[in-house]
Amino acid sequence: MDLKSNHSSPVLADPVPLSKSRLGLPSNMTPFSPAAAPYSSSGLFLQIPRRKVGKLDDVRANSWLDAMKASSPPRKKLNKDFISESQSDETDAAYRTWMMNHPSALTAFHQITAYAKYKKIALFLDYDGTLSPIVDNPDHAFMSSAMRAAVKDVAKYFPTAIISGRSRGKVNEFVRLSELYYAGSHGMDIMGPIRESQSVDDHPDCIRTTDEQGKEVHLFQPASEFLPMIDEVFDSLIDITKDIVGAKVENNKFCVSVHYRNVDEKMWEEVGKRVFGFINDFPRLRVDHGRKVLEVRPIIDWNKGKAVEFLLESLGLSHRDDVLPIYVGDDRTDEDAFMVLRESNCGFGILVSTVPKETKAFYSLSDPSEVLEFLKSLVRWKKSVALQTEDYMTAI
Ligand SMILES: [Mg+2]
Repeated sequence: MDLKSNHSSPVLADPVPLSKSRLGLPSNMTPFSPAAAPYSSSGLFLQIPRRKVGKLDDVRANSWLDAMKASSPPRKKLNKDFISESQSDETDAAYRTWMMNHPSALTAFHQITAYAKYKKIALFLDYDGTLSPIVDNPDHAFMSSAMRAAVKDVAKYFPTAIISGRSRGKVNEFVRLSELYYAGSHGMDIMGPIRESQSVDDHPDCIRTTDEQGKEVHLFQPASEFLPMIDEVFDSLIDITKDIVGAKVENNKFCVSVHYRNVDEKMWEEVGKRVFGFINDFPRLRVDHGRKVLEVRPIIDWNKGKAVEFLLESLGLSHRDDVLPIYVGDDRTDEDAFMVLRESNCGFGILVSTVPKETKAFYSLSDPSEVLEFLKSLVRWKKSVALQTEDYMTAI
């Protein structure tokens, strides 16, 4: 299967191992082109360029309310109770059209496995809305035991990382699987495997430490200088939103989330006004929109897409034709990762959504229950491939 970026979905060819040129890339480019990645030509991390400060993001210039509504579409199933039959038909038709460009990763599973057959899959998973359902209280976004078992299983066969907007500690608490790699705060707090590399070791934002099991790991925190500022902003945001019923402020270590999923829609504008108004005095911070959440984060050139590249590098899986990275996520912040995979032309994103959305993902899944089925399918497929290989080896 060639993953050509000028197609709206991957185009199947055949499952034989592919050369770089067959990935649809110019001959002088490789997947994860050094020109686009934060690494030197030797593949090593060098520095995090800071974004220009002093200019408000475009989103700040637009209406807060419009942006908040656009980022928080009502879920289709809930919405159906309140819309007419004709509106429902229109919604379904729009979704079906969208699905033609972003087919279900379950119905297109044979395509995915045909392409993955001679490759090593590296799996990257968002947490909220992907592995766990979106719930009213973000502290109660637990994953089911079935999902935990599926993630544990999948990690036996494929290197698997969770990349979340939550703090690394919080998402680790929810998932509780030592087999995985974790990136919290939208990738600004990564605990990854040790890969012998002097450049990585020398970087001030990357240190060697040990994880809870005593295993030596690399801890990469490119926004560490922002910690005092984030703590200050967290305290202030609690204070300025405390009289808005339902507003909840969460400290995600390198970013702060202001959840408004439990706030009356009439008060959303007030939430936006206060948060954007306050952050206006912090030229080194920005506000991003997530699903019923405003994310306050440092202005650095780092995101979930860069985190995917960093983890692939740490795992020794970047710049390789025989690796297929797959990223599954539901939020706007996951688009950075979808974009990296689409542009590098070596893997693909899967958007979790029940409504049509503008996305750089190739495939889609409707909700965490379909993500669960996809993970289980990957394990079943990998086991069957292993059995076939065993039978073949026995026969010769
Ligand atoms: Mg999410």
